[in-house]
Amino acid sequence: MAAYDPDNIFAKILKGEVPCHKLYEDADTLAFLDIMPRTEGHTLVITKESAPDLFGISPQGLGKLMAVVQALAPKIKTAVGADGVLIQQFNGAAAGQTVFHLHVHILPIKDGVPLRPQETGMAEPDALAMTAEKIRASL
Ligand code: 5GP
Repeated sequence: MAAYDPDNIFAKILKGEVPCHKLYEDADTLAFLDIMPRTEGHTLVITKESAPDLFGISPQGLGKLMAVVQALAPKIKTAVGADGVLIQQFNGAAAGQTVFHLHVHILPIKDGVPLRPQETGMAEPDALAMTAEKIRASL
């Protein structure tokens, strides 16, 4: 299992040291917009446990995380007018993981609109704020 760095960017978001466009929070999870969205409404759901990846969290914690993914994904899909939802989760740099704090991607997909590549560039802050508002209104 990868070591957990308590100063990773998502740990800083959890501590309130780095801002995010928050969509949902409970005792165990936080959901916010990805800063480099691959689709409109690209959301990250993160655990509040100090787990670097899927293998560093308890089964109970994983269950809570996935329950939030299951609850949010259809609402986000509807909010942005998508046709399907891709759920992605990477473990290890070789698999495409870049932030070593367990998170699940919710990617709303519109018919005929391809996913932008990973790390596609930062979104305009205003565009992210508008998307976040639209999604929050539907939760
Ligand atoms: P991974 O490849 O590790 O599964 O994905 C990490 C994701 O975190 C990427 O999609 C990247 O765009 C996103 N990300 C990296 N830094 C930040 C940040 O500071 N804020 C937000 N909201 N997302 C970030």
